[in-house]
Amino acid sequence: MRPSLRNLQAATRVIPRAKSISFIGLGQMGYRMAYNLFSKQHTANGGSEPLGFVVCDALPDSARAFCSEFSKQFPDAQISIANTPEEAAIFSSRIVTMLPSSPHVQSVYAGFIVPTLQKLHANTSANTICIDSTTLDVDIAREVATNVIKAGAQIIDAPVSGGVTGAQAGTLSFLVGGTQETFEASKPILSLMGQRIIYCGPSGAGLGAKICNNLILGVEQIVVAEAMLLGESLGLDPVILAAVINSSTGGCWSSSANNPVPSALPDKSPPCERDYEGGFATALMLKDMGLATDVAQQRQSPLPMAKAAKELYARIVEKRPELAKKDFSSVYLYLKDNRE
Ligand code: NAD
Repeated sequence: MRPSLRNLQAATRVIPRAKSISFIGLGQMGYRMAYNLFSKQHTANGGSEPLGFVVCDALPDSARAFCSEFSKQFPDAQISIANTPEEAAIFSSRIVTMLPSSPHVQSVYAGFIVPTLQKLHANTSANTICIDSTTLDVDIAREVATNVIKAGAQIIDAPVSGGVTGAQAGTLSFLVGGTQETFEASKPILSLMGQRIIYCGPSGAGLGAKICNNLILGVEQIVVAEAMLLGESLGLDPVILAAVINSSTGGCWSSSANNPVPSALPDKSPPCERDYEGGFATALMLKDMGLATDVAQQRQSPLPMAKAAKELYARIVEKRPELAKKDFSSVYLYLKDNRE
């Protein structure tokens, strides 16, 4: 049977809103995060009280695939599909969003969640916590947070670090911005998806920290590709070169965990071993470099390396669109083929 609003309503007749969690955005990260969240919560609960799990994605097939996989593993769990974020906000007091970027967050919150919260009884809205884990523009996130709070609910920005592997393993780091009270109230949920939950400050602070981290990562991945290519041109064995870098001062995550050269890390399986599939998309890294350069421009903070990196990622996405969805370590392929 296709899960639908009718199922959702049937389920929520027995599941109070306070006991229901919605997850909106089941992409590379969200699917795995929601799976950890729901399965751990279901297992911990042990059937002692009714719990409702609700998923929502712009691609209905993603939500259906999630429900089907989850129901197979946990046949006694109450899982339903919300056809819109509005349905999710009606039925759940905890709403996690994991969307691509600023426009998606704006449209989900301004178009659906905030108007729904405004229509709910004041006590019901007050018992609602939204957790947005998307990496997006700091100022837009603050505006969204202001509107959620005006509608009577609470919200934190909780972007993540740790990639698809961390999402799968439940070992993400959450960088949180919002009130201390909402942070504390959200911790039990975040800890089912991550290992480190770091309070960074008021609304937008989690995103600020995330953007600073990713600008380093975006630059580092390019430099590692440059060094590996230079080493190859000097006749060095990539396995030896990677081992040298990783035990020397050039060592970094982009080299030791996400090395872009196939076979350079014999004990690991970075995305380059799978034709650069299943990692952090080049297009998403371009977005993050844009978030960094935009915010730096507004604050007049110097960013010469990040600007150069952003231009390179933009060129890759334009000239080699097939690399846009591949892991951003595929910058190595682009440099190798273009010898810039
Ligand atoms: P993704 O594109 O794989 O997933 C986004 C999901 O959101 C898709 O399933 C899409 O259908 C859904 N969606 C889009 N608009 C929607 C809407 N209006 N309503 C409901 N669903 C909607 O992206 P991802 O890789 O999962 O990344 C999500 C966020 O996490 C991004 O902000 C990204 O920068 C950040 N992030 C990603 C990684 C990574 O390694 N992929 C690591 C850290 C942070």
